[in-house]
This record gives sequence, C-alpha cells and structure tokens, in this order.
Amino acid sequence: MQKIEHIGIAVKSLAQAIPVYEKLLDTPCYKTETVDSEKVNTAFFLTGENKIELLESSDPEGVIARYIDKKGEGLHHVAFAVADIHAEMSRLKAEGFLLLNEAPKKGADNKLVCFVHPKNTHGVLVEICQEIS
Ligand code: ZN
Repeated sequence: MQKIEHIGIAVKSLAQAIPVYEKLLDTPCYKTETVDSEKVNTAFFLTGENKIELLESSDPEGVIARYIDKKGEGLHHVAFAVADIHAEMSRLKAEGFLLLNEAPKKGADNKLVCFVHPKNTHGVLVEICQEIS
C-alpha cells in the first residue's frame, strides 16, 4: 500500500459537521459528493497532504446510518491508496483477510474502492482505493 489516502468520519449531518471541521482544520470544505450506490453524502477537506472524508447517510437504512445507530458518530475507516486494486484485493484475500466486496466499487472522489472487514484488522474498517485514471 502506498500511503493513507484519507480518514473517513461518520457524521449524522453534513450541514452541522462541515462548519465544525472548517473551524477545526481552519480550511474550507473543497468538495461534496453523493455516492448513490453507497447511500452516502461525502464532504472532503485537505490539511497539507492529508485528506479527511466526512460521511453522512443519504438514506435512513444506509450503512452509515446503521453504523451511527450502533456505534455513534466518529472514526469510520482508514483508506490506503494502492496502485492496482485488483492485485491488492487478491493479495489480501490470499493473506486471509475478508473483503466486503468481491469486485472494486466506484467510490467518492474518482476512486475504485474495496473494504476489508474489521474483524480481521483488530477492529479497524480498512478501505483500499485506486485513483480512476
Ligand atoms: Zn473512504
């Protein structure tokens, strides 16, 4: 894996969380994007080279809504950039990690993404992502 691409934070309301993170990080949100397939609205911030992704459910039954119901708002996932998502998925599978999707999915911010189940990673939901060229 190349580097941490972003950190994902689950929030109940982007309308409430965006101004808080703009104040906290002292930088404006530079992009919002809805990913219909994932039932999620996202907002992005850059601090230096580091990216923060806020995630709000766009549907009461969406994965982010269910996550917040169970665990509350907060850190949701750590995303790592990879050069070849198919190769990395095969490698992780061979190492015994449980992948949450069989094929890469289109995620926010022009990425192909795949998630690794937190039960194999000591409790951290891991995303791997590859820039779509
Ligand atoms: Zn993410």
